[in-house]
Amino acid sequence: MPFTDRTRRPTDLTPMVALQMLREGNYRFVNNQRLQHNLREQADQTREQQLPFAAILSCMDSRTAAELIFDQGLGDIFSIRIAGNVITDSVVGSLEYATAAAGSKLILVMGHTNCGAVAGAIKKVELGKLSSILHLIDPAVEYERAHEHEAETGDFTRNVSKRNAIMGARRVYDESDVIRDLVDKEEVAIVPAMYDLYSGVVQFFPVVKFED
Ligand SMILES: [Zn+2]
Repeated sequence: MPFTDRTRRPTDLTPMVALQMLREGNYRFVNNQRLQHNLREQADQTREQQLPFAAILSCMDSRTAAELIFDQGLGDIFSIRIAGNVITDSVVGSLEYATAAAGSKLILVMGHTNCGAVAGAIKKVELGKLSSILHLIDPAVEYERAHEHEAETGDFTRNVSKRNAIMGARRVYDESDVIRDLVDKEEVAIVPAMYDLYSGVVQFFPVVKFED
């Protein structure tokens, strides 16, 4: 159910509809059934106004461009990209704009396999200002070290990336009064996800429930 009219948001757009749109887009990408995006026409339609249905936080990795792996066009999604898809004040502020100001229904916090930033955090790499980004991944590294016996796969880097996405989703909720209010009213959902570089498949994890 891709957007055809980019000047109007579908009236039935809910967080779960937005999630389904991403699922379908990733299915098209994986199966090489991408839509014929008329980017020139989309640029014309969105010149005055944008109505993106979702905001995706993903890694800066050159292989994880959200618009491509979800088969989206111009004006469809907000795309926030930073090494290790970490949560900073700037990221949270951008997500607040996407949801509270611009009306996006879904926040996806997406890690990926073979993430260099996660590998760097595991190896405790120190490099200029990059270090401050990698330190934000430390809690996920520590969690997975403490829970290695119950890990889902033998790929420690992958396990940390998944944990980093799940913890990141929680941090967005905890650190933003604005977004927490929208989530509590069920107007917005925050969903962690993992992108597999080998298969192209995005695995979505359950919408994080925050009553605990
Ligand atoms: Zn990465």
